Amino acid sequence: MTTAIPFNKPYVNDAGRRYVTEALSSPNHSGDGPFTRRCHALLQSLLGVPRVLLTTSCTHALEMTALLLRLQPGDEVIVPSFTFTSTANAFALRGARIVFADIRPDTLNLDERQVERLITNRTKAIIVVHYAGVGCEMDVLLEVAKRHGVAVIEDNAHGLFGKYRGRYLGTFGDLAAQSFHETKNFSCGEGGALVINEPKLIEDAEVIREKGTNRSRFFRGEIDKYSWIGLGSSYLPSDILAALLLSQLEARDEIQLRRQQIWQVYYAGLRQWAEQQGVGLPFTPTYCDQAYHMFYLLLPSLEDRQALISHLRSHGILAVFHYLPLHLSEFGRQWGGKEGDCPVTEDVSARLLRLPFFYSLADSEQARIVDSICSFVTKDVRTRRASMA
Ligand SMILES: *Cc1c(COP(=O)(O)O)cnc(C)c1O
Repeated sequence: MTTAIPFNKPYVNDAGRRYVTEALSSPNHSGDGPFTRRCHALLQSLLGVPRVLLTTSCTHALEMTALLLRLQPGDEVIVPSFTFTSTANAFALRGARIVFADIRPDTLNLDERQVERLITNRTKAIIVVHYAGVGCEMDVLLEVAKRHGVAVIEDNAHGLFGKYRGRYLGTFGDLAAQSFHETKNFSCGEGGALVINEPKLIEDAEVIREKGTNRSRFFRGEIDKYSWIGLGSSYLPSDILAALLLSQLEARDEIQLRRQQIWQVYYAGLRQWAEQQGVGLPFTPTYCDQAYHMFYLLLPSLEDRQALISHLRSHGILAVFHYLPLHLSEFGRQWGGKEGDCPVTEDVSARLLRLPFFYSLADSEQARIVDSICSFVTKDVRTRRASMA
């Protein structure tokens, strides 16, 4: 009996256990304690950005960007249809109209060639998602955004420490959102960060994150009492979670190196099979350093994808798919989306399959996954073989 291989397993190291124990014995467990401050300082210096603020999730960091942009009902934001609901939800919560854009068939990133025709005089922001941690075409997107005076927000949930033309993802937009959910490269269970690249937004961000108060300035001794000065909510994670996160950020080289190895073993092991079976593998442009967040296959059809999921399940391997096109979702259809609006998204969504991908995936387990996949024959090849027999 072989043991089952899950899709994901959270990573914990000894430093993580030590830091959490230390945080637990501190007299304060709330946000912005010593571990949170160390995470902020580390991320700011690594990324070379003016301010990073830990949040309770990437979803909440995205909600903060919608508040910081002071979005009003009727304002428009451009969002790829091929993404997680939070990328659109954060702006819909402010009453914004979501304008869905299609993706490129190679990187599965927002198709920069289609963004300009979606811009109107109500457009306030373009939201980009660096899918699988491979950078979007930021040169083009930033130029279009600048010409039309709209903000760029990066949903960088997949892409921490990935680079586009030598520059870190998450440092291009006015604001960027990171995720530290357990399925991401670095995690504290549930968590995220807002990366602030536009210094004018720092003070507002601190107020929004602290329930609409200027408590952050008070703690820095800049004012002698704090009060309610604007809209806000509670977006600070506990310092206990920051302790767990710090241990992972400090182990980033080891984590990323292992993920790179896993990615390369999949690529090398599946390349020939993929070519024979007409299956697509991930594509990374030469000028992008990917973040090794994910390994996916693009099967020839929905039928093949479902058959491979069952085939792998019978070998005790859990592979999953995502994202259902947001423009065709029950809630997303309110903005007038219909079939055929985003043809690449609709096509890819039916054919994509994600393979187990986590730090502690053993070499023997990965070999089993590769072998199981290579014993799978797609419908076309099966039909062709039958007609030749
Ligand atoms: C995971 C993910 C999110 C949400 O992250 P949370 O930290 O769980 O809120 C948002 N966008 C994308 C693209 C994601 O993959």
